[in-house]
Amino acid sequence: MIDTIFTENHTIQEPNLIWRECLKTIKENVTLMTYNTWFVPIKPIELKNSVLKIQLPSRFFWEWIDEHYNTLITKTIHEIIGPEAKLAYVIIDVPTAEENNKTQEPKQQIKAPEDQKPKPEFETFLNPRYTFENFIKGEGNQLARAAAGAISDNPGGTSFNPLFVYGGVGLGKTHLIQAIGNKILQNYPDKKVIYLSADIFTIEFVEAIQTNRLNDFSQFYRKMDVLIIDDIQFLMGKEKTQDLFFQIFNTLHQSRKQIILSSDKPPKDLKGLDERLISRFQWGLTADIQPPDLETRIAILKRKAEDYGMNVLGDILEYIATNITSNIRELEGCLIKLLANASLNSKEINLELAKKTVKEIATDRKVNINIESITKVICDYFKIDENKIRDKTRKKEIVMARQVAMYLSKEMTKSSLKTIGLHFGGRDHATVIHSCSTIENLKQSDTYYKDLIETLRSNIELNCS
Ligand code: ADP
Ligand code: MG
Repeated sequence: MIDTIFTENHTIQEPNLIWRECLKTIKENVTLMTYNTWFVPIKPIELKNSVLKIQLPSRFFWEWIDEHYNTLITKTIHEIIGPEAKLAYVIIDVPTAEENNKTQEPKQQIKAPEDQKPKPEFETFLNPRYTFENFIKGEGNQLARAAAGAISDNPGGTSFNPLFVYGGVGLGKTHLIQAIGNKILQNYPDKKVIYLSADIFTIEFVEAIQTNRLNDFSQFYRKMDVLIIDDIQFLMGKEKTQDLFFQIFNTLHQSRKQIILSSDKPPKDLKGLDERLISRFQWGLTADIQPPDLETRIAILKRKAEDYGMNVLGDILEYIATNITSNIRELEGCLIKLLANASLNSKEINLELAKKTVKEIATDRKVNINIESITKVICDYFKIDENKIRDKTRKKEIVMARQVAMYLSKEMTKSSLKTIGLHFGGRDHATVIHSCSTIENLKQSDTYYKDLIETLRSNIELNCS
């Protein structure tokens, strides 16, 4: 048991700052879910003479913290405050109308400041920067944008459940699905909304198994009103994670909770995903986001320039929009680079500088692409260790990644077959040729591989620009 101490003392310090420091250490030692569930709701009240008083939402909460995180918290406050530091708890029930101030053992009257908004019980991971207001509408995102708006007004109550948004890299999927989350919280502040990407979900799932907390993990997501999962393609090939996600999906869907998903490809092309999931993904609305046309690109640039406080003439924006077509992230990047070029050289932003910047982006894109950067992107994508791709492993998914990496190295760099072979574990040039033709054949015969290669290619270009 941690001592529960309330002392009258003289030195009073800023508890929020100290607690924030403690949280940094705690966050490194627990899973994200644990952190959200048990630590985010804690409120520091007071720090007097090395006694940190924290407020917990319920008695149950206190017992749980005391049983499971006593050592961690004590160790942390010793590190941050000093060896003599102690904790004091104040427990309040989540205030109901009549019971606003009722407190439980240990007796202590704590009144929540009236003007404070109710604190969310967990982090939503929504980026407030992503809103509908700064999301430019265009032909390419019309349907997805309209469905997103309808859902925000009536989460769980439209036939767009789940909403499945798909499209290429940098086209606004993350922006749009987070905008829904932000808007729902604006419309319905009491709703429980959470955003996370499928790879974080997977990591959390594995950690939950390792720490024997699978039940908590699953319960946590089942109590959401709005579950937003980005890049659901990361679940491909991860059967156990898919099983649990399937159950969570069913629970939420049955109780008319809103589910929003994004992916780099349509549900039917999510090979390596359970058929049951693929069919559920199609229960609601599947909407794609296409690359923006010239007009939309200009509108986006105009809006971004305003946001950055830049004064850029129309013909310059048009020049950039005409020459950078692949994705919106790169458009944004160009504008930032233009701003940097102008201020570094104390020049004004004119067409000449814009031409130079666009050219630099194109050159950078090529120069930075080498076998290492290609390997890195591919290993990140398939979630495999970079050493594995180089050694002798014959595991199916690693062989596949290795062949793709060789293929793209041949396509995207000037390296010789010999150099490419050397990079991938000292293989000879015949092996490289074999890998390249295997991938070329797959690309021709199966759209999954065609899309995969294109996705990887644009990931590499993006990563290297
Ligand atoms: P994705 O998730 O599809 O890879 P993002 O949502 O991360 O793409 O978008 C990349 C960048 O482009 C972000 O900074 C985002 O704000 C911006 N962006 C994308 N689409 C739009 C849009 N329609 N209007 C304004 N900005 C956009
Ligand atoms: Mg994204």
